Amino acid sequence: MVISSKDVKTIYFCPRKAKFEIRHRERNKKSLLSVSNFQTDAFGCILVAEVDEIVSENPLVVKILKTGKKLSEYHMLESAFVGYVIESNGKKLDAIIIESPYYSVSVNWKPYVSRMLSMIGSFCETDEFRVMKTHLCRTCPFSPECFKEIVNSESLTFLHGVKEKTLEKLNSYGINTLKDVINMNPIVEQLLGKEKAKRLAVQAKSIIENRPILIRPVPKISEGLYLDIESYTPLNFDYLFGILDDGVYIPFLASDPSSESNVFKEVVNYISKTNKPVYHFHNYEINRFKKLARRYNVELSKNFFNRFIDVYKLYIDHVALPVPSYSLKSIARYFGFNWRTQLNGQLVVHSYAEYLTTGDKRILQEILTYNEDDVRATEFILKKLIEIIA
Ligand code: SF4
Repeated sequence: MVISSKDVKTIYFCPRKAKFEIRHRERNKKSLLSVSNFQTDAFGCILVAEVDEIVSENPLVVKILKTGKKLSEYHMLESAFVGYVIESNGKKLDAIIIESPYYSVSVNWKPYVSRMLSMIGSFCETDEFRVMKTHLCRTCPFSPECFKEIVNSESLTFLHGVKEKTLEKLNSYGINTLKDVINMNPIVEQLLGKEKAKRLAVQAKSIIENRPILIRPVPKISEGLYLDIESYTPLNFDYLFGILDDGVYIPFLASDPSSESNVFKEVVNYISKTNKPVYHFHNYEINRFKKLARRYNVELSKNFFNRFIDVYKLYIDHVALPVPSYSLKSIARYFGFNWRTQLNGQLVVHSYAEYLTTGDKRILQEILTYNEDDVRATEFILKKLIEIIA
C-alpha cells in the first residue's frame, strides 16, 4: 500500500475512509510515485512525501500549502511524515514551511515523529476499521456503505440528533439499538423530553423500514428559484451565485473581488423581478446575502428575505429519512441524484485556488458544473418532498 503525506489528515480523522480512498486509488492504478522524489518503506507500506514546493535545494527547504485559518495538530503530523520520509532518504532537511492565505510558519516537526509513526504503523497493520461518526461523514462518498453496516448492526451511530453525550446517556440505560429506541421510548422520553423522543423513534423506524416517514405536515410548496453560492473563504469572496429558474441554470460569476458588488446587485435584481420563493439548502445563502447587503449598502426588505426557504429545514423538521446525514449530498443520493463531478464543499475551495493560480478554464468549468448540480439537486429533493406528501 502506498501512503501519501496528503493522506495523513484523513488517516487522523477517519482511518476507515483513508483505507477506502487508498484502495480506490490503487484499483484505478493512480500512482503517486511519479509526483515526488521522496519515498521510504515502513510497516510494509511505501510512504511518499508530496510537497507543494521545493523552496530551495541547498539548504533543503520545502513548502506544504493549506487553505485554512489555523495550524492544526494533523498539520504537524503531516509535516512529521514529510520530514521523516525526506530524512530517511539521507537528505538533510533545513525547514518545512506550512503556508495558507492566513499564515506562513516554519514548523518544529521532529517532536511529532514518534506519534506519526505509531499512527501510520497501526494504519498499515490494520485491515478493517470500525465506523466512527466524524465531521467527514457528511460529505463522505463511502457513507452509504458505512450506513448499511450500522443498520445491519442496529447501532445508534448514525441516528440523527444523537451526539456522543446523548449516545452515552442512552447506552447507560440499556438503549443500544434502533429497536430499543422504539420499544423503550417512555425511558427515552424521560431522558430527552417528549419531542426529541418522538423524533428519535420515527427516525429509528425510518431506518429499520428503509423508507421516508412524515414527522408532521409540510407547509404548502410552490414553484420557485433555486440558489447556491460558491465562496473563496481565504479572501471572503463570493464569486459564484448559481440560480436555477424554470429548469434553466444561470451562473452569476464575479471574475475577481472588485466585481463582487456588481454581480451581487445583478443577482438581487434578478430575484427582485419575480415573486417566486428562493429555495436554498441550509442557512449559508441567507447569511451571505445579509453580509453582502451590509458590505455594499444594498437595502433588502424583510419581505425579500421572507421569500428564502431553507430546504434542509423543510426536511429536518418534517421528514425522517434513512440516511447517514441530512446533507444535500446524502439526501439527494438517497433519492438517486448523481453529481457529475467529484467536488465537495472543501475540494471546491482548493479547486478555485488552483484556478486563481493557473487560470485554467477547465477548472472553472468543473466548478460551474458542480454549482449547477447543487441547485439541480436542491430542486430534485424538493420535488421528492412533494411526492412524499402527495
Ligand atoms: S462515512 Fe464516516 S465513518 Fe464511514 S468512511 Fe466516511 S468518514 Fe469514515
